[in-house]
Amino acid sequence: MINVTKSFLPNQSEYNAILKRSWDRAWLTNRGVLVKELEQKIKDKFNITNIIATTNGTLPLQIAIKALQLKGEIITTPFSYIATASSIVWESCTPVFADIEADSFNINPLEIEAKITEKTSAIIATHVFGNPCNVEAIQSIADKYNLKVIYDAAHTFGVSYKGKSIFEFGDVSTCSFHATKIFHTGEGGALFANNDELHETLYSHHNFGHDGPEKFKGLGLNAKMSELQAAMGLAVFPYFEKIKEQRESLYKMYFNALDNGKLQFQKILENSEYNYAYFPLVFESESQLEKVKTALNSQQIFPRRYFYPSLNTIEYLKGEPMPVSESIAKRILCLPLYYDLAKEDVSRIIKIVKANL
Ligand SMILES: *Cc1c(COP(=O)(O)O)cnc(C)c1O
Repeated sequence: MINVTKSFLPNQSEYNAILKRSWDRAWLTNRGVLVKELEQKIKDKFNITNIIATTNGTLPLQIAIKALQLKGEIITTPFSYIATASSIVWESCTPVFADIEADSFNINPLEIEAKITEKTSAIIATHVFGNPCNVEAIQSIADKYNLKVIYDAAHTFGVSYKGKSIFEFGDVSTCSFHATKIFHTGEGGALFANNDELHETLYSHHNFGHDGPEKFKGLGLNAKMSELQAAMGLAVFPYFEKIKEQRESLYKMYFNALDNGKLQFQKILENSEYNYAYFPLVFESESQLEKVKTALNSQQIFPRRYFYPSLNTIEYLKGEPMPVSESIAKRILCLPLYYDLAKEDVSRIIKIVKANL
């Protein structure tokens, strides 16, 4: 069976050797040496100002909204995973959707500007499938209207723009280290803010609001990464470049074989270094997508309709129609892409796709 993705696993003995360090100390959580080491490694490799490792990629979105004290309306993308929009509602704010660009699949800065009202407090944008948003246009809108910017950067581990880590843009960026993401800790994630004061607030929020063991700075919750999660991260981390290179070569196989002038691919932002996190393919129609998907499923190959449905169509989110996002969401399929996916299997998938167009 071939699924859309498969978690990269290091040799189990390497994982055990790291886990032993936690065992020997009988120290399982509360920011032990493994969490701190993982944070330091990520910071050093990507030249990042501040990082806080977290237990998943969703709580960071909620913490960011809380730390920035956002109220009222938050402009966001209809083309993302549910967590982007549900976090806004969870924090008692109102998501207001702005449609996406048909080529990048990211939120369209022109649409953002059209949605701004007196109640708007922020923009939450997703770097869809690891493709950076137009961060310069978004920041200039935010500056003009005095809005905060949060990036749901769940897909963008290892991505940079103009030589700078993509996590350095906006007020806060959040990442997911879920088992299905390009870099993972089983469950996990991170918060990034290059403003030190904001970083301290995020840090306090992610650890019950503690200010030392006996004092509290303010409200908080528990979003700490455990040592067990960090052990997985430390075992996977040394392989990241290899994982990325392997995925790039499979991505290019798909691209070169399927580029027939009719299928649409994601346009990656210029001047960015991409991580090949996903291989999304947009068909001419939903019926064509269904035909290809059925043919692949019959061979035990399971691509995923991702992102589908467009978030504005979900009842509790009460969105307006978003023609571009809805049209892409109906026609987009992510093909299997992962480290140990065999080249022969990619060739087989390409053949099945082509035979069913
Ligand atoms: C995976 C994902 C999340 C949530 O991350 P978890 O670690 O699963 O909580 C949020 N946003 C996007 C775009 C995602 O793909």
